[in-house]
Amino acid sequence: VDIVHTISDFAAIRQDWAKNGWRVGFVPTMGALHQGHLSLVDQIKPNVDRVVTSIFVNPKQFGPNEDFGKYPRTFAEDKAMLEEKKVDLVFMPSAEEFYPPDFSSSITNLKYSTVLCGAFRPGHFDGVLTVVMKLFNVVKPDVAIFGKKDFQQLQLIKAMVRDFFMDIRILEGPIVRESSGLAMSSRNRYLTEAQKEEASALYKSLTEIKKRVAKSVRRKSELLAAASEVISEQRSLSVEYLELRKPTLEPFGDEIQLPAVALVAAKLGSVRLIDCLEIHE
Ligand code: AMP
Repeated sequence: VDIVHTISDFAAIRQDWAKNGWRVGFVPTMGALHQGHLSLVDQIKPNVDRVVTSIFVNPKQFGPNEDFGKYPRTFAEDKAMLEEKKVDLVFMPSAEEFYPPDFSSSITNLKYSTVLCGAFRPGHFDGVLTVVMKLFNVVKPDVAIFGKKDFQQLQLIKAMVRDFFMDIRILEGPIVRESSGLAMSSRNRYLTEAQKEEASALYKSLTEIKKRVAKSVRRKSELLAAASEVISEQRSLSVEYLELRKPTLEPFGDEIQLPAVALVAAKLGSVRLIDCLEIHE
């Protein structure tokens, strides 16, 4: 697999691909790859002629007290996994080139960047949208894919692409889970086996909501209380939010309608975990 670090090196290859008329698929990541990331590569492949994966731990999406410095960086393993998946190119820009001293712009979602995760991570989604816009402008993908694990992120990226008339098709990857139900995440590397078992209560709480919805419960407070109870059995989990929303992220009143999405964020020690579950008719 070719590894490219600068925008100009990438552009040269991208021009060649354009001359051949090749359609390009893009899988942006922050590295520390796992099966969730690799599933995105598998899903985008049949849609395109060339696949680019980026690995960039984007400093702008981490708050001052978050884990930017400690975020797992496992490049040798990442490279081997992407080679095995036959990704064509890995783009690893430098923070210096992406954010030079005169860098002064930002992309904001005016509606949903300060709710859910945004309420607990001020500026996070501005950092995400800004880097995704920059990556899109360099990679110039025809198709890009994002996981539903980061459900709010996915909705905000879809909104950006729509609002700015960006000519990129966005695919959505289902959440890949451990057998316990725990959503795979780069941050799971920080957890012991026992902690991972505890963390799987997040998924169990979401499935509890789904079960009750299947039994025709629609009262939001009742659904959330049941989920909350499941999580509270694990003393180590401290919930940031547990919510039910429309798939567009619009809030419900007292009664939910379908389709809906249940979303949760919690901390286990200093490790922040998120999960969600879509609920259909
Ligand atoms: P990250 O490296 O955490 O920025 O994630 C890169 C991409 O992988 C994002 O689109 C995530 O939503 C997606 N992703 C992360 N974990 C999973 C998972 N367990 N299942 C599916 N997609 C995932």
